[in-house]
Amino acid sequence: MTVRGCRAAALAVGDELLDGFQADLNSPALARFLGERGWSLERVHVVGDREDVIAAALVELARDHALVLVSGGLGPTLDDLVRHGLARAAGVELEHNPEAWAQVQAWYQRSDRTPPPSNERQALLPRGARPLENAWGTAPGVHMCMAGTDVFALPGPPREYGPMLEAHVHPWLADQNGDGTVRRVQRFHLFGISESLFADQVAGWMERESNPLMGVTAKDGVLSVRLVAEAADEKRAQELLEVRAMEFTERLGAHVFSEDESDPAQVLGAELISTGTSVTTAESCTGGALAQALTGVAGISDVFREGVVTYANGAKVERLGVDEELLRAHGAVSGPVAEAMARGMAVKTGADLALATTGIAGPGGGTEDRPVGLVWFGVHFKGQTASLERRWPPVGRERIRRWATAQALVLGLQAVRGRFPD
Ligand code: ATP
Ligand code: MG
Repeated sequence: MTVRGCRAAALAVGDELLDGFQADLNSPALARFLGERGWSLERVHVVGDREDVIAAALVELARDHALVLVSGGLGPTLDDLVRHGLARAAGVELEHNPEAWAQVQAWYQRSDRTPPPSNERQALLPRGARPLENAWGTAPGVHMCMAGTDVFALPGPPREYGPMLEAHVHPWLADQNGDGTVRRVQRFHLFGISESLFADQVAGWMERESNPLMGVTAKDGVLSVRLVAEAADEKRAQELLEVRAMEFTERLGAHVFSEDESDPAQVLGAELISTGTSVTTAESCTGGALAQALTGVAGISDVFREGVVTYANGAKVERLGVDEELLRAHGAVSGPVAEAMARGMAVKTGADLALATTGIAGPGGGTEDRPVGLVWFGVHFKGQTASLERRWPPVGRERIRRWATAQALVLGLQAVRGRFPD
C-alpha cells in the first residue's frame, strides 16, 4: 500500500531560525494539526533566506511528499524570498497577481491606509499559483501545484501561521481522499515503568513495519505511547487499533494512568474536581513541587486548600504530628514516616486525600541503605493509609524531584480510583 497520500513535509524559512535565537514553532504546531486530521509530518527542513536553497529544498520535498507546507519568507522585504523560490522550483515566472494585490490593499484599507510600494512584492506570485487570504496580517499565503504535490506557503509569525492552517489547509485536507488510506490513533500515558522494561515488553509491536505502528516518548517518568493503525477503510483501521489496544492494556494496563492527557497533575486535578474530592500535600524532598503542580490545574481551588513543606524533622513533628519515636526508629526517609505525614496532614486539614513525599534527592545525603534516589511516598484517602518506595538512579536532584512529584500525583490518582500500593 502506498501511503504517500497521507505524508507531509515542512519547510521553515528564515535566517532567524538558524542563528540560535528563534526556535521553529510552526513545525510542531503543524505536526499537531496534521496528526489530528490523520496525516503525519514526515520531515522538517529549516533553511535560511536564500532563493536557491529554498528552491532546492522545495524540489526535494515535493518529490517525496504529497503535501509541503512552507512557513515564513512572505513579507515585503528583500529577504523574503519564498515566492521567488517557489517560482524557481516550479520552473515558472513570477507575475503580478491582481487577486493577491487586492488582498494586500484590503488589509490596509481596514485601517484606512494604502499599502506602501514595497508591498507590491507580496502580490508577485508564481504563474498558476493561488493567493490565500490572510485576515491576520499583510502577507497573502500561496497555494500551488508542483509536479503533483500541493505546496502551501504561509506567513511565518505563529499567530498568523496557525489560523492560516485552519483557514486554508484544513479545507484542502478535508477534500482529499489521498490514496484512500485511513489512519486511526490511540494514545496511552504510563507511569512507573522504565523505558527499557517497557521496550522489552512491547518489542514486537515496535517494529517499524508493524501496523498499528507504535511510538513512545518519555518525559519526567511518563511514557507516552502512540498507536497508529492504517488501513484502506475506517472499519479495518479501527479493528486493527482495537485489537492492539486490548493486547496493550492486558500487558501494561496497570501502568496506564490516562489515555488523553500526559500530565499526571492535570489528570488527578480533573478527577478531584469532578468528584469534589478535597486534597492536601505534605512535602519533604519535593519542596513544594507537588503543590505547585496541583495548583497549576485550572479550577483546583474548589478542592485544594493547603499544602506544607516540612523539611526538618521538627517540622514534621510540629506541623503534621509525626511521632518523634517513629522518626528515631525508622528515619525520616521511610514508609512509616511517609504514612504518618499523609495521615497527619489529612487529620489537620480534614481533606479526603493527602499526599506526602520524603526522600533523598542528592547529590549529598545518601548512605549505604538509604542511597540518593530513594523516595518514600505516603497516601491517605478516606481513612486508609499506605506507602510506596521508589529507588531511582542518582540522575540529579532536579530530575529526582520531578519524578517524585509525578509519582506522588499518580499514587494519588490510583488511590482515588480505589488502588492502593500493597
Ligand atoms: P510577515 O513579514 O508578513 O510578518 P513572513 O512570512 O515574511 O511574514 P517572516 O518575515 O519570515 O514571515 O517572519 C516574521 C517573524 O515571524 C519572524 O521575525 C519570526 O519572529 C517569526 N517566525 C517566522 N518563522 C517562524 C517559525 N518557524 N517559528 C516561530 N516564529 C517564526
Ligand atoms: Mg523571514
